[in-house]
Amino acid sequence: MKFALSEDQVLLRNAVREFAEAEIRPHVREWDETQHFPRELVPKLAELGLMGIQFPEDYGGAGMSAIDYCICIEELARVDPAVSLSVAAHNGLCTAHLFMFGTEEQRRRYVVPLARGEQIGAWGLTEADAGSDAAAARTTAVREGDCWVLNGAKTFITHGATGDVIVVMAVTDRAKGAKGISAFVVERGTPGLRAGRKEDKLGMRASETSEVIFQSCRIPRDHLVGEEGQGYINALQVLDAGRIGIAALSVGLAQGAFETARTYAMERRQFGQPIAAFQAIQWKLADNATRIEAARLLTYRAAYLKDQGRRTSLESSMAKLYASEIAVKSAEDAVQVLGGYGFVKDYPAEKYFRDVKLTTIGEGTSEIQRIVIARQLLG
Ligand SMILES: Cc1cc2nc3c(=O)[nH]c(=O)nc-3n(C[C@H](O)[C@H](O)[C@H](O)COP(=O)(O)OP(=O)(O)OC[C@H]3O[C@@H](n4cnc5c(N)ncnc54)[C@H](O)[C@@H]3O)c2cc1C
Repeated sequence: MKFALSEDQVLLRNAVREFAEAEIRPHVREWDETQHFPRELVPKLAELGLMGIQFPEDYGGAGMSAIDYCICIEELARVDPAVSLSVAAHNGLCTAHLFMFGTEEQRRRYVVPLARGEQIGAWGLTEADAGSDAAAARTTAVREGDCWVLNGAKTFITHGATGDVIVVMAVTDRAKGAKGISAFVVERGTPGLRAGRKEDKLGMRASETSEVIFQSCRIPRDHLVGEEGQGYINALQVLDAGRIGIAALSVGLAQGAFETARTYAMERRQFGQPIAAFQAIQWKLADNATRIEAARLLTYRAAYLKDQGRRTSLESSMAKLYASEIAVKSAEDAVQVLGGYGFVKDYPAEKYFRDVKLTTIGEGTSEIQRIVIARQLLG
């Protein structure tokens, strides 16, 4: 059992940290305030391999491991959780679904440009009336000759308006329930596909989230991804890995909030001394540092098991549940340590506090993670 990162992983962490500090940090507040999705950042992310982190080099990716992936997502989230969310959704949902279940032709056609960052990916499972209960989806795909015709709408889709390619789950046989849902790949510009409302969000505002509407959207027959009727089951497998990414995002966000609080506590003086001298503040810092380390270990363990080729439903959900909930606490404590300055936008604590709430909701709420964990425990 080894608990240390390899030399390459330390270099990777340093490289992504330097990149995030130089290219992202100066813009965090502006992108948040204007809800600007920084598409202009994508070529720079791609240069570092961050648009195709875990995909083989042969498919345009950086060929990194699941633990490397966590390091990258963590370091981006430490500076801007919204950019990290976009990178995680692009890599871990859309591109991963196509890589895991696409045909060789689909991998060449879609995974390569996505992994190189020439295109941005979106992934549509959620609908207005089918969130946690995603198998209740109403969007349909009907075979007509050599085509599939899609009708319906997907809600809360990351890159729903900016994505070049979307993987969408749609009902192909309602009588079969969850086993009657299939996955399809649809290219931006296909007649009948359009973005709906862009969400005006509490946090993660630099990550674009929109509705996606399909109206008699006709796609070629070979745009089915994976086997017919396996789309929902495959989506759950994608989420098993995706949740490790949200856990890593939570760890990075918690780390960023913690560092904000620590730095401030050492500088801010009250009653003639730095507030870091007060035990009440020290205990907050000590508790958060401890919880962050525990969350990081759970997350890396899930990633390690994924690297071993193991199914990680239990470990992914445990990591996602714990890391997201401790991140909420870390962000809340950071605001408290900064006092009134934690409540205003001049300091980063306020933004971590808003961004963090997504981590207990996206890719399955905390309640759903507990259901997944309990199911595994109880057989
Ligand atoms: C910023 C953002 C980005 C997103 N990106 C994507 C994306 O790219 N693609 C995509 O497909 N989706 C995306 N989502 C959707 C996200 O996955 C869903 O919001 C999430 O799964 C919850 O679904 P819901 O919002 O419909 O809540 P609901 O399912 O309506 O849940 C409401 C509440 O009820 C609880 N609840 C529901 N069922 C149960 C139960 N059985 N037991 C106990 N409690 C329960 C929930 O935990 C929650 O507290 C995104 C959401 C956000 C906010």
